[in-house]
Amino acid sequence: MAEEQLDWSNLKFGYHKTDYNVRCYYRDGKWGELEVSSSEYIPMHMAATCLHYGQECFEGLKAYRGKDGKIRVFRVEENAKRMQSTCRGTLMAELPVEKFKEAVLKVVKLNERFIPPYESGATLYIRPLLIGTGAQVGVHPANEYLFIVFVTPVGPYFKGGFASTPYVVIRKYDRAAPLGTGCFKVGGNYAASLRANKEAHDLGYSCEFYLDSKEKKYIDEAGAANFFGIKNNTYVTPKSTSILPSITNMSLIQLAEDMGLKVERRPIPIEELETFEEAGACGTAAVIAPIEKIDDIETGKSYVLCKDGKPGPICTKLYHHLRGIQYGDEPDLHNWVTIIE
Ligand SMILES: *Cc1c(COP(=O)(O)O)cnc(C)c1O
Repeated sequence: MAEEQLDWSNLKFGYHKTDYNVRCYYRDGKWGELEVSSSEYIPMHMAATCLHYGQECFEGLKAYRGKDGKIRVFRVEENAKRMQSTCRGTLMAELPVEKFKEAVLKVVKLNERFIPPYESGATLYIRPLLIGTGAQVGVHPANEYLFIVFVTPVGPYFKGGFASTPYVVIRKYDRAAPLGTGCFKVGGNYAASLRANKEAHDLGYSCEFYLDSKEKKYIDEAGAANFFGIKNNTYVTPKSTSILPSITNMSLIQLAEDMGLKVERRPIPIEELETFEEAGACGTAAVIAPIEKIDDIETGKSYVLCKDGKPGPICTKLYHHLRGIQYGDEPDLHNWVTIIE
């Protein structure tokens, strides 16, 4: 195989072909063995439930190459458990945590040559996907499923350095309903978010900002990321049934506690934005994307969340601390990291 030299520093967040993916089929009521494939395609029945009735879910995590050359994967068991929760929410076959983990570690190892070097700031993005493949025209859960994990190298989220960007409240479209699928990682939520996201971009903002879809009073999510605000030495993050439980947020909560901050998880009225000293959107892609301001065009309010436009000190500290753990630069006190030998 010809060894291509990837331009690590110019990678974008896009798809780049790698050598292998790992697959596992659910048939006759049980999961089979892991299979290695070098095909980028999935042969599928045209009546598969994932195509018609949205029986589909995914996960997202990363592999990091440390200064020591070792490869680390962050909290993979949590992604496995979250996918199981999504499966229960959409009546799909649940994959055992161990099998999920084995597939992730295997696909990373097999594509080792695509893991960007430490200095580049780029990472290997890991995408587990589970789809209903059984043919069905009536609306019922499928009897067959395919679990597949592929990887693709992606560039650093902050190319010009850790920076804050503006958000805009969109009330015209909801991402998820209070008792719907917002708390599950299904593609349908993303399809439902495309219009709001486009509108935010057309208005010149980096991202849309969602309020709860029932009352439009409380903060829900910052695009496809969780929201947190900082004030009075307290980390505040919304409690809502339509938020996707972010593993990054869960980790930041722990680090905030370790740093001596108080943590509150509760409904946050939009007006409370006025009182935050700092705020961020958090998720695997960016760890923390600091929020410069949130404009509410309908009420004419602009909530400024960054003094002098720069990320605040607590956001910055949390960001470096979590990244430090992911890359192996800081001790992994909570056993979050799996090292791939
Ligand atoms: C994946 C996702 C997140 C972030 O979750 P992480 O586990 O931190 O990557 C937040 N919100 C939505 C809607 C998501 O789909």
